[in-house]
Amino acid sequence: MQNKFTMAGVMGWPVEHSRSPVIHNHWLREYNITGAYGLFPVEPKQLGVAISGLRALGLAGCNLTIPHKVSAMQYVDWIDPIAKRIGAINTIVIDSSGQLCGYNNDGFGYLHSLYEVNPAWKANRGPIVVLGAGGAARAILVSLLDAGAKEIRLINRTLDKADALAQEFGAVITTYDWSLRHEALQGCSLLVNTTSLGMHRQDSLDIELHDLPQEALVSDIIYAPLQTQLLKTAQAKGNMTINGIGMLLHQARPAFKAWFGVMPEVSNELKKILKETF
Ligand code: NAP
Repeated sequence: MQNKFTMAGVMGWPVEHSRSPVIHNHWLREYNITGAYGLFPVEPKQLGVAISGLRALGLAGCNLTIPHKVSAMQYVDWIDPIAKRIGAINTIVIDSSGQLCGYNNDGFGYLHSLYEVNPAWKANRGPIVVLGAGGAARAILVSLLDAGAKEIRLINRTLDKADALAQEFGAVITTYDWSLRHEALQGCSLLVNTTSLGMHRQDSLDIELHDLPQEALVSDIIYAPLQTQLLKTAQAKGNMTINGIGMLLHQARPAFKAWFGVMPEVSNELKKILKETF
């Protein structure tokens, strides 16, 4: 008997730039699974119709990317508690009873990108500095809190947004004015840039690393370019660095498992294939 053909894909607007098909179709081949992962350009006003169409078309589910991660929440039947706290979903899984279930795996992806580089990494090892208070920061903050972070210094250009997050997520988070980003690195164990500063065609992140301890991990979730100025400067100082490709790859793993039944591994071959697309 032939294996069941399973389909999933990513909804976005625009969506052509998404690397998710490269990742999922690679794993489908690697694990000999009969299926496909496609690109679905879905205009914002069609999102509700598109999501309800998943069931009608017999898809296993989908990913959601910009601009649908928040608005999609209203069209699913159930939302995972972690996704509720993050306030966005990036994955829909249709369960065995036909319910549309919403998840957010970005925080999982972020933590696992750290574990990949340092399996012994612990969130409670020392203060963590998070730059940025947008959508990606929310996912990363929730994952760091759940991993046991004891002190998070949150720094954002618009201080009000950081203050609102600290209010929402509790006393582990303290906020600093953007002008204090250099000094706030004193004694920190992890620095993560979640702003868009440093991306292709954006200004680079202006931060002095004099006060950054030598043992601190430095992570930038930007993946285009792979080596941001922040990572280059940190490397030159001798700090261990992590680029954004790990988060991108690891966030895809739980969705693949839910749709296709196998928890996939992030191989060097897949990383090489993905890097060649940038
Ligand atoms: P977002 O919600 O639009 O947030 C953007 C953040 O960048 C805000 O904190 C914003 O500060 C800050 N920012 C923008 N321009 C700035 C400037 N000139 N000076 C100082 N701060 C500035 O975006 P997002 O969805 O969180 O994404 C942020 C970055 O993460 C993007 O580069 C995205 O590609 C990357 N990302 C990577 C992954 C991955 O898998 N590796 C996943 C998600 C996102 P204000 O609040 O002051 O505007």
